[in-house]
Amino acid sequence: MTLKERDKKHIWHPLTQHKLHPEAIAITKAKDCLLYDEDGNEYIDAIASWYTCMYGHCNDYITGKVAAQMQQLDQVVFSGFTHEPAIKLSEELIKILPDNQNKIFFSDNGSTSVEIGVKMALQYHSNKGKKRNVLIAFEDGFHGDTFGAMSVSGLSVYNGPFEEFFITVKRIPTPNGENNQAILNQLSDIVKKNAVAGFIYEPMVQGAAAMKMYDTNGLSEILKFCKAKNIITIADEVMTGFGKTGKYFASDYIEIKPDVICLSKALTGGLVPMAITTCTQGIYEAFYSDDIGKGLFHAHTYSANPIACTAALASVELLQSSEIQINITEIIASHKKFGTHIKEHSKVKSIRQTGVIFALDLNVEMERYGDLRDNLFKFFMDNGVFLRPLGNTIYIQAPYVITQNQLNKIYKVIEDVLDTL
Ligand SMILES: *Cc1c(COP(=O)(O)O)cnc(C)c1O
Repeated sequence: MTLKERDKKHIWHPLTQHKLHPEAIAITKAKDCLLYDEDGNEYIDAIASWYTCMYGHCNDYITGKVAAQMQQLDQVVFSGFTHEPAIKLSEELIKILPDNQNKIFFSDNGSTSVEIGVKMALQYHSNKGKKRNVLIAFEDGFHGDTFGAMSVSGLSVYNGPFEEFFITVKRIPTPNGENNQAILNQLSDIVKKNAVAGFIYEPMVQGAAAMKMYDTNGLSEILKFCKAKNIITIADEVMTGFGKTGKYFASDYIEIKPDVICLSKALTGGLVPMAITTCTQGIYEAFYSDDIGKGLFHAHTYSANPIACTAALASVELLQSSEIQINITEIIASHKKFGTHIKEHSKVKSIRQTGVIFALDLNVEMERYGDLRDNLFKFFMDNGVFLRPLGNTIYIQAPYVITQNQLNKIYKVIEDVLDTL
């Protein structure tokens, strides 16, 4: 039996309606920008496996460091113990994070990093003797699939059965330059009627909302408003972090820095799961007390796993290398050129780009998980490129180590698919 067949017996896949999508492709190997399946086909990983493997799959530098760490210390409880991989990682991250960040809290996936950010915001006020129980978030935001993260996510079509259990969240539109004042008015109104604890946002680019890019000046104004009202600002950089936007973090482009930052995905270069929630000294101090109940009593068994910390440390070193920084600059320029060319195509409605994130909207209406979208996906895979359209949006977020030839192949299959529409 093939892996594909054996898979069907016991496995329940994420984000999958098995009746409509019974087949999974069995991947047996990955290296650099390529995935290999059990039938011997190869695919360029044009979305870096959900933007995790940014330094290429099975990166030798990362796997080498991790292999050595595996002989030294595999896992230890992180409450009451500490270890060098976590300490070194904290030191290196603080050097590249926005200047106001000073504390690092570990967990193991993007959703938990958001849960922790939300808890920090709620408990911050509670510790100061104030009951603030409402959060503000953008419409169409995505922050993960656990309950707190689902609550603040605005893409709730698939969250129906859970909605009655959510935290109270007030939603505002993303700024586009023209609605900025209207959003500030709406915020004033929300704050008058609600005890607002925090505001969570994906800076610059909303990933799951089909790589929606919005006005950063407008975001700065919202953040300024929040600071004035002592509303804790939480930047969810799970997708945008670690170079995607052209700078280390999207928050580097924005004048007002967040109180809390959520990180995961590219943090470990895709090798193992890990997440981090960072915060300012001010947030930390609201929990620092003789009263044990004022501490942040949140832990995961694998918090700060030494193997994951080592993978993250190696990834952060690679990110800062001149080789990767040059690659990023080249990918940005290459996408720009492709964008200028493809935007004239009659099947293209619009294009947009932030750093290495490139997206193109088709001039065709389609459902997020409909047949046409499945046909696009199949066309790309049949032509050796793994792209995962979001409704009528095709986006590229390839590993930083992608070659120009591979980029050209991605561009070509996109152009070819347009001609089939
Ligand atoms: C992927 C993602 C998450 C959730 O991360 P998981 O590791 O899948 O739980 C949260 N926020 C953003 C912006 C993401 O892109």
